[in-house]
This record gives sequence, C-alpha cells and structure tokens, in this order.
Amino acid sequence: MMRRIRWPAAMSVFLVLCACTKTQRADYPIQDVPMTSVRLTGGFWAERQATDVAVTIRHEMKESEQTGRIRNFELAAAALQGETGGKLQTSYAFDDSDVYKVIEAAAYALWLKPDPALEKDLDVWIAKIAAAQEPDGYLYTARTINPANPPRMSGPERWVNLDDSHELYNVGHMYEAAVAYFQATGKRNLLDVALKNADFIVKTFGPGDKQIKRVPGHEEIEIGLVKLFRLTGKKKYLDLAKFFVDQRGNAAGHDLYGEYAQDHKPFLEQGEAVGHAVRAAYLYSGAADVAALTGQTAYWAALDKIWEDVVTRKLYLTGGIGSAGGIEGFGPPFELGNETGYAETCATIAFALWNHRMFRRSGEAKYMDLFERAAMNAFLSGYGLSGDLFFYPNPLASRGDTQRTPWFNCACCPPNVARFIAEMGGFAYGVSGNRVYVNLFAQGTADIGTKNGKVTIAQTTDYPWSGNVKFEVGLEKPADLTLMIRIPGWAQGRPLPGGLYVYDDETVEPSVLKVNGESVAFGLDKGYAPVARTWTNGDVVELSLPMPVRRVRASAEVKADAGRIAVERGPLVYAAEFADNGGSVTNLLLKAEAPFAAEHRADILNGVTVVTGKATAFRMESGLETATEVPLTLIPYYAWAHRGRGEMAVWLPIEKAKVRPTPEPTLASMSTVTASDGAKGLAGLNNLFEPESSIDHATGYAHWWPKKGTVEWVQLDFPNPTTVSEVSVYWFDDTGTGECRLPVSWKAFTRTGGQWVPVRTKDLYGVAKDAYNTVRFIPVRTEAFKIEVLLPEKYSSGIQELKVK
Ligand SMILES: [Zn+2]
Repeated sequence: MMRRIRWPAAMSVFLVLCACTKTQRADYPIQDVPMTSVRLTGGFWAERQATDVAVTIRHEMKESEQTGRIRNFELAAAALQGETGGKLQTSYAFDDSDVYKVIEAAAYALWLKPDPALEKDLDVWIAKIAAAQEPDGYLYTARTINPANPPRMSGPERWVNLDDSHELYNVGHMYEAAVAYFQATGKRNLLDVALKNADFIVKTFGPGDKQIKRVPGHEEIEIGLVKLFRLTGKKKYLDLAKFFVDQRGNAAGHDLYGEYAQDHKPFLEQGEAVGHAVRAAYLYSGAADVAALTGQTAYWAALDKIWEDVVTRKLYLTGGIGSAGGIEGFGPPFELGNETGYAETCATIAFALWNHRMFRRSGEAKYMDLFERAAMNAFLSGYGLSGDLFFYPNPLASRGDTQRTPWFNCACCPPNVARFIAEMGGFAYGVSGNRVYVNLFAQGTADIGTKNGKVTIAQTTDYPWSGNVKFEVGLEKPADLTLMIRIPGWAQGRPLPGGLYVYDDETVEPSVLKVNGESVAFGLDKGYAPVARTWTNGDVVELSLPMPVRRVRASAEVKADAGRIAVERGPLVYAAEFADNGGSVTNLLLKAEAPFAAEHRADILNGVTVVTGKATAFRMESGLETATEVPLTLIPYYAWAHRGRGEMAVWLPIEKAKVRPTPEPTLASMSTVTASDGAKGLAGLNNLFEPESSIDHATGYAHWWPKKGTVEWVQLDFPNPTTVSEVSVYWFDDTGTGECRLPVSWKAFTRTGGQWVPVRTKDLYGVAKDAYNTVRFIPVRTEAFKIEVLLPEKYSSGIQELKVK
C-alpha cells in the first residue's frame, strides 16, 4: 500500500536550507524513520492519536488562550510597541513553553490529518509569537511585557537568573516546534523566529571572552539546538548544544546550581541520576545527541553509567522515573514509594526519548523495551481516555484522593503528552544500511529508505492485547534486507535488564516467527530476531509473542514492594482498582499460587484485556476480622482512575501483614467533610488509614497550604444526629520537605439547631506530633461537628486523620 506524498513545498525548502556537506558527518549508527514516514492506521496507538488530533490539541489550544498564555505574547508585542505597565497573565515565566509544545503537537497533527482551520489558527498564534520577539532575537514574554518589573523568577535582567528563569528552556521548546511546523507545512514563519533567536543565543553564550558561560537551570535547549542543526546543517547550533552540556558542573564557568539541575560536577564525571527528573532526562537526551553528532565517545561512558543507575535502582515498574515529589526528581536508590510515587508524566516522556537515543547508538533492544514500558504504562496513565484530562504525578497506588484534571497551573505535562502521542509513529522503526529495526508493534504502514532501496512495511496487529503481529513487505523489486524484529525482554522471561524487578516464574515459551507461512529459526542479536533474505513484494512475516500473565517481584532493597507482587501481561503492567473489586483493594491478599486468566473486555475502559484471579478479602465486623474468598479483576495500570474515586494498587500483598482489613465505618468516615476555602485532600482525613507519623505522605491527609497564619476550619456533617464526647486529631507536619507544621492552637464545636457551640472540656487542645491529640468533653447530641485551627504565622498546617466518638 502506497502512502500519498504530501508537502513537496517542505522538501524543496529543506534542500535550500540544508547546506549539505559532502563529507559524511558523525551520527547515530541507526537512523530514525521519522513520524512523517509512518502512518498508524488502527489499534492501540492509532486510537490514541485519533483522540489527540480530535480532542487533545484543540483542548490545549483553548486552555492556552483562556489561561492567558497567548495573551502574554500579545502583551509583550504591545510593550515592544511602547505600551507600559503590562503584567504577565500567568503564574510562571516558563508558560511560553506550553504554547510551543502545543504548536509542536499540532504540527504533527497536521501531518496525521490535514486541517486547514487548525493551520490557520496556528499561523495566527505564530504571528503573535513573532511580534513578541525583541529586535535582537530575544524572546521571553515574562520580561518583555514589563522589563522594569519582571516576575522574580525571571531575574531583574536578562540571563542573571538562569538557574530559574527558564529563558533558555522556553526557546528550546520553540526550536522543536519551529522544526516540526516547518516540516509539516513548509512554512518558515516560526522557523525564522527560532533561527533569529538561536543566532542571538549563539552570539551570547559560548567560550569567547565576552560570552556568557552559565548554563540553563532547566535543560531542553540542547535538544532544540540539535534539531536546528539537523535541519540547517549549521554547526554553530551543535557547537552551542555541546557547550551547554560541557559547561554543566564546570565551576570555573559559573556558580554551580547543584544536583537539582545536574550541575554538581562536569557531565563527563557524572554517573548517577540526580535531581529534577525532567531536567535530567532532557540533559541525557541532549548529551546523547551531542555524542552521536560529534563522534566524541566520552559522553557515552557517563550516559551508560547513569542509565544503569536508573534502571537498576531508581525506576518504577511502570517505566516512570523521579520518585521524590519534593524535588520532582530522583530519590535515593530503591526509594520507590507507591502511594507517594511522583513519576511525572513529563519525566516518563523524557526517559522514553532518552532510551530511543540509546537504542539508535547501540542497536540494543533493551532500550526500546524500556521505551515501550514507559510509554504504555507510566506515560499513558498521564493521559485520560477522553483526551482532555491529565495526571501530573502517576503514583502506583492510590486511596482515591487524586483525579485527572483538564489543565494545571504549571502545565508542562498536557502539551508534552499531546506532542509525544502525535509523534509515536516516529519511534516504531529504525534503519541502518540494509537493516530495518522494528521496535513498536502498531498497526500501520511505514515507508523506509534503506541502503538497498525503499521498502514499505505494513503491520497488522491488535497488540498489546495479543502478541500476534503480521508484517507485509512492499518492494518495487527484490532486495536483500535484514528485518530486525524486537523480541521484548518480557517475552524472554525478564521485565527489565538488571535485577530491580524479576518474574516469579522465568519459564519462557518460545516466540515464533514465520516467513510466508513457514517457521524460521532465529538467534537473538542484541534482543532482535534478525530475518535476513532476499525479500520480494508481498512477502509476509508473522510474529507470535506468547503473553502469559506474569507475577513480578521487586528486589528486596525496594522496601515499598516487600511482601507484594505485581502482575504483567505482555508489555502492560496491571493494577487492582476499587471499581472491579468490591470497592476496595488494600484489604486483598493474593494467593501465592492461584492461577490468573486473561479476558478481553470490550465494554470497559475503551476495550481492555483484564486479568482475573482470586483473592482473599479481609474485613472488620463487630470487632472481629473476617476473611472471604473473592474474585479478583486487574486492569491495565494506564486505565486507572476513570470510574470515580477509589483505591488502586499495582503492588498487591502476598503477605498477610501487608493487608489492611477494611475497617468498620466510623462516625467520621460516614460524615460529609467540608472545610474553609483552599483546603485540599479532604478525603484523606476520614479515610481510616492510620498514619505512621505526622509526615506520612502515603495515607492521605488534608491541608491548607499555601495559606499561613489564618484561622481555618473543617466540618463533619453526621449522617444522623449523634451523641459525641471525644475528638482526636492527628496533625500533618512535613518539616524538612514542605511548609506544613503543627498548628498554634485549635478548638472544637458542635452544632445544635443551627448554632455552633464550643464543646465543654477541661482537656488541653494538644498539638503533639506523631500521635493523636484527644480531647474529651461533656457529651452533646449534635448533627455536625467542627474544629477551628489557627495556622502558624509563617507556616501552613494539615490533618492526617480526624476522629469523633
Ligand atoms: Zn510535566
């Protein structure tokens, strides 16, 4: 099947732009087959792309307009025309970058599905962006709107606050958008803005006497500069990308920003993944590009070490990275809390992009295994099925206190989702000489240029629900080619390289390959099944990957997963969710040997294969623990949180000590909770999860952050008027990681006949840490109960659990 050829305009301009050198330059040994050559036509990824194009991109354009992100460009343009007193309409100086990412996504969408109206709207946006660019090329609305009074994070002048200003981060995303838009439409409107800016940045930063030697606090521009280099062939962009990588941790060049920004030691000496996870993985991606394109191998030694560190010590089973919410980054080795797991959607995308580069350098399937694990699990969790709801953190367990939302004040994730989904086809293949690498199993067609001529590969599959994939080879004349078909690690009995996670049962059913109906024996070459032959038009390859349900165990060093197993089938990690399991999950104990079965359910969650089995459910009844055998249903992890609020867990107890019998309901748990404005996490304070300490983040808590020094309240409306005589409060306090402290004081009230009356007590209203603070009072029959809390002057406060008897 031949795909129609579009955008001759883009190609001709490309030839003009690219001052193609005759000498072969260094590059990855394996070349991309870009998304513009791959059309996904049905099944798992194509469905998500269709949602992206039909819903997500327009939704994000609307959010960008409504939140003032586009207005920022208009105000900057007005300021350049002499208007004064303008004010940034949004919270952060990096909000321009969201607009650029939306444009990049929309550019890919224009390729996936031509849409003149969308293109016209983008041109309007781009004109606004161009008008906001200062005459010398500088583009950063946060300052241009009002240079005399920029937001604090921008710094008082250009470049003086680079560790936090995001001046270079923003334009990195602009370069990516500009290249994508040029390739999609052949239009130079955004590209000219990008090149003018990049030329200015090239002049401003570098090794010269008068040039600035500092680095961006948030990496990204390195990736963007490399894309400009690939498009134009101008080496100065690559040189600057290399300069930024080399300057990291160079104390002679600037005051170091520290581990948070991977600026603690020279890049070549780095060997551990540290700090903010998105920054880190963008740096590693940019450094990989620099290594490939300069041919300087020293970078790979650092990248290999860092990758090893992530994969053997700091990676969630879902492929998410960055467990520590406080820094949005890497925690200590093996600290992979499930409820508290951050695994930011952007960090997963960045990790996938980095792995794609590691594959292109090495031809090793393990990197694309990780790409797939990240994309199909941690990443997709961040993208609601409807296409207009997103998660920022993607924990592996939940009490039901989090839901996807349409947008965020800090909105990095939604547009990153949109561009990554739209580009997905571009990660499916690779090519090196006469070798064609098949990395993703996704229905669709790819046109691939090889040393021995062009080949078209048409995939038919309903992966990941089954492991059967059919490839049809299209050729104008017979050609010698080697198809390198990825045999995923999970099909070889191991979820990941290294020992962080292993399958309980490593027995491997062989994967089967047939060419034109006949089985072919194959050995593995770096995780790929090589099929070398003289291919003719219409040849058919069939791959069959067995997909048993697997139990996964974590290394004993991962305390959070001790006494638990996870379940996988094919590339998907599974989760137990309240909606399928009688309303709760934490009360379930799995039988070590009970069999699992897989069953396709077209009727739920847009169609998923569920895993079924048996579990024992524990419950407290009249003070006694009961145990009942119950059916167990697991759904793909990515599909959680689509059916209301409730518990979810990836790691399920196989030890009784890890089970939490469903407690008997209490007055507080049956009450309706309300609180003063700004309170968050209210469901956490009566969920009957006992905190281990005041700083316990895992059990759910309510808080008033960032309010400070105010009087706040929380109220329980009882199901029926009840006589009460005791209240207990367990305070939340995250000293060391956050801004909540024990309150200054508190008071309790009951309501009778619409009047709030303080309870009568001689007890002290305690504010002790790590314990319940109980006040007994003269019994009152009441319909509602309230406590008032005075927050410390410089801190906020929160409540782990509130009980009334
Ligand atoms: Zn993000």
